[in-house]
Amino acid sequence: MRQLDMLYEGKAKKVYMTDDPEVLIVEYKDDATAFNGEKRGTIVGKRAVNNRMTNYFMRLLEGCGIPTHYIEELSDTRTAVKRADIVPLEVIVRNLSAGSFAKRYGVAEGIVFKQPTVEYSYKDDSLGDPLLNTSHALALGLAVPEDLALIREYAAQINHFLKSTLSECGVTLVDFKVEFGKLTGGKIVLVDEISPDTCRFWDSKTGEKLDKDRFRLDLGNVEGAYAEMMKRLGI
Ligand code: UDP
Repeated sequence: MRQLDMLYEGKAKKVYMTDDPEVLIVEYKDDATAFNGEKRGTIVGKRAVNNRMTNYFMRLLEGCGIPTHYIEELSDTRTAVKRADIVPLEVIVRNLSAGSFAKRYGVAEGIVFKQPTVEYSYKDDSLGDPLLNTSHALALGLAVPEDLALIREYAAQINHFLKSTLSECGVTLVDFKVEFGKLTGGKIVLVDEISPDTCRFWDSKTGEKLDKDRFRLDLGNVEGAYAEMMKRLGI
């Protein structure tokens, strides 16, 4: 497979076309942004962590029956994926209160929910990724009802599998964001990444933050936390 022109450059990744119209190459970057792009920086080595951790989780989830866009890891920072039309929704699952949930509802971080929560935001940077519910998503034509139902089901299953894998490594999965796409032919698949950039990981014993919150909140040792997560997962 031959890498061709760049199709798109996002905040944390570049996407290239290939000589196969159904295959794209994703290249991860060390660039980090937070608060809708207001805070910018670099997390040295994060591109290899995020590439390898995402692929590790995508392979695991495929094995559990969740379809993904993953094809093959090409290098430390590059992966071949199936081309998919992105459903413009960020799907956020939470097991404990943190981040924008804690702020929005005026509660402390770390409240353990009896049931996980699922919420959606509309993927649109110029609007600041506004929160929306399923009826809003349907009204805006962002997805059809069957796809939304499947997405919700997959998100719950992903939470279940990631939570148990991480708990065996002494890590609490606080919350995470996932995205989905549609392959040619209409199949819904998991796309994008599952990494310390898109999840909150807390040490199960000490509560130490092992994710991008170290960058967002200027807690220091950002690179060390990303490396620690790789060590915990044994990858
Ligand atoms: N998240 C993400 N991209 C976003 C917004 C959130 O990956 O644009 C992830 C974030 O890392 C966290 C979860 O989704 O694991 C919930 O984030 P939250 O809504 O609390 O927003 P934040 O506090 O990060 O603004």
